[in-house]
Amino acid sequence: MPLRKTQAVVIGRMALGESDRLVTFYARDCGKVRGVAKGARRPRSRFGSGLELFTQGQLLFFETERSDLARVDSFDILHSFQSVRENLERLMYGSWAVECLGRLSADRDPNPALYGLLLRTLKALETPCRPPRAAFCFALRAVDLLGHRLRLDRCLKCGTPSPFGSKSGRLDFTAGGLVCEPCATYGSDGVDLSGLAVGGLRRLRTLSWDEALRAVLPPALEVEMAGVLEAQMARLIGQVPRTTRFRTQARRALGVNGGSP
Ligand SMILES: [Zn+2]
Repeated sequence: MPLRKTQAVVIGRMALGESDRLVTFYARDCGKVRGVAKGARRPRSRFGSGLELFTQGQLLFFETERSDLARVDSFDILHSFQSVRENLERLMYGSWAVECLGRLSADRDPNPALYGLLLRTLKALETPCRPPRAAFCFALRAVDLLGHRLRLDRCLKCGTPSPFGSKSGRLDFTAGGLVCEPCATYGSDGVDLSGLAVGGLRRLRTLSWDEALRAVLPPALEVEMAGVLEAQMARLIGQVPRTTRFRTQARRALGVNGGSP
């Protein structure tokens, strides 16, 4: 059984059997790795608190021949991201990001740039930056890194350069990008998009990570752009992410409005 060593972040975890834990990591050198941590739920487990959601650590695991699941040997904490878990809003947006990442990436498909993006997002969630913006910037870059970049520079059907003045367009997920209003097919697989939102998404793509986190955007425009990314994520995953549904319920319970994704 080959032993592998890599930096990784815990992106999912669930109880397994009486005392074990099934943990999903996103690893810098291996992509998504699902592994069994034997005895992790015992009171004096050698894993301690290392396998909490968002924790970054040095992962040591064995490949197993009989299953896709690895055997987790050890996970030494590099950064716990405890403050992200302890604040409900940060926890919700962080959970949304790791759920999207986990559901859109295949096992053992390394993407160090995506790993770097995940870490930047969790670090942003530790700062006073608004959590919805961190999640939004994550989604905007993650879809590109996962190979689902949408073309926004022109209408994919007639070639008219965007944005289309004061006119809106439609983001056609099947076509892979923007189509202008006259070319849009009613009921096609996509979402309507204002000219301002097209310009905003294009601008945010060109900004550095820190600039994108700080960029001043009208709240209504940010909500519209975040909604587009949320729709694209749901389309790529095949259903609305579980954490989106949870967030909607939590927001209702807390009486908070706006600020998606
Ligand atoms: Zn057109």
